[in-house]
Amino acid sequence: MSPLDPTDVPALLAYDRAHVWHPYTSMTDPSPVRVVESAAGVRLRLAGGQEVVDGMASWWSAVHGYAVPELDAALADQAGRMSHVMFGGLTHAPAVRLAERLVSISPDGLEHVFLADSGSVSVEVALKMALQAQRGRGRPGRSRMLTVRGGYHGDTAGCMAVCDPEGGMHSMFAGVLPQQVFADRPPAATATDAEVESWAAGVRRLAEEHAHELAGIVVEPLLQGAGGMWTYPPACLRVLREVADEHDLVLVLDEVATGLGRTGTMFACEAAGVVPDVLCLGKALTGGYLTLAAVLCTSRVAHDLSASESGVLMHGPTFMGNPLACAVALASLELLETRGWAADVARVSDGLAAGLAPLRDAAGVVDVRVLGAVGAVQLDHAVDVPRATQAALDAGVWLRPFRDLVYVMPPYVTSQADVALVCGGVAEAVTVA
Ligand SMILES: *Cc1c(COP(=O)(O)O)cnc(C)c1O
Repeated sequence: MSPLDPTDVPALLAYDRAHVWHPYTSMTDPSPVRVVESAAGVRLRLAGGQEVVDGMASWWSAVHGYAVPELDAALADQAGRMSHVMFGGLTHAPAVRLAERLVSISPDGLEHVFLADSGSVSVEVALKMALQAQRGRGRPGRSRMLTVRGGYHGDTAGCMAVCDPEGGMHSMFAGVLPQQVFADRPPAATATDAEVESWAAGVRRLAEEHAHELAGIVVEPLLQGAGGMWTYPPACLRVLREVADEHDLVLVLDEVATGLGRTGTMFACEAAGVVPDVLCLGKALTGGYLTLAAVLCTSRVAHDLSASESGVLMHGPTFMGNPLACAVALASLELLETRGWAADVARVSDGLAAGLAPLRDAAGVVDVRVLGAVGAVQLDHAVDVPRATQAALDAGVWLRPFRDLVYVMPPYVTSQADVALVCGGVAEAVTVA
């Protein structure tokens, strides 16, 4: 068999359609895909030559855009030294320097770093930390997690168990997963104090009832992403911190999507003045170059879990601390700082707020939400994804709607004009969706 010609687009698409799985797709009735030939700046170049602005930043990750000279250089430099070595019994400058950087930029108290290979794995590790910490505290019966409805934490088994139990993508696995404890979804970011208080009362009741069997709480702070792009008031996060303290639960904040500036602060929890016991980072960590995630925890959690019967944190993936990923993550964090990420995110945020506001009055739209460099338009019906995708492409924008949502999280470096273009693409998608 001759290898496929990389320039033979129809042949690539045919083989792809017959043999290659894409996220959340069927092999018997695959949805259409497009071939990307290259990407630079905030644009993807599709086969055939069309260039479109990436409104998705490759699912929250490509915050600096594509073919970023600083990141390319960091990667090439590291590849010249070593691409990978095992992390068991060995260490290296890229991992140690990245850990130092993460400890220094994260909220005070988070001192210890586990370098995981994806967001889902980071959540698995965080859940394990909570469980092991409780065992170390002499409470082996505390093995369940409290979370809120509407969440998304990844696709592996432990993560699926804390995703939204109904709307989530994983409801069919309900019977085989550990049964976790679900509080109501927090009220909308625009909620009144009374609405926050009524939600809080429910959470407090639930925590009280289950405290004897709870190891921790896990939530996405301020913005629930793939569970529905729901925003909620900072006060709700403070309630969860209080509840965790009251019952000695480990508070895990999953900032895989929100972390590293996306919501307007370096970490979303900072906007609420909340410091977690365990923090998960991922997606944007390498600027979208390679898969890497990090779990940070407090010294108390690290100490307590080390007192559990195994004496160690029971996790150690093959590609833990991959040097290429660490080197490019370090370069990406440096670039966030030198470029001034906060001003970039504020500019994108203003552009999304202005550009999406008119859609509030569009037919079929029930809500428009903007938080930091994230915009979501919620419809009163499921999006016709192929039609909406094509309409956005015709407007020069790459979007990937899901469920009842047309949403965007462009690279931070997207110019004002390109943010306006992205909003135009959203409007076209909403019209045909
Ligand atoms: C994407 C995401 C994950 C899973 O990360 P992967 O790298 O896809 O495994 C976990 N939590 C949140 C909040 C996410 O948005």
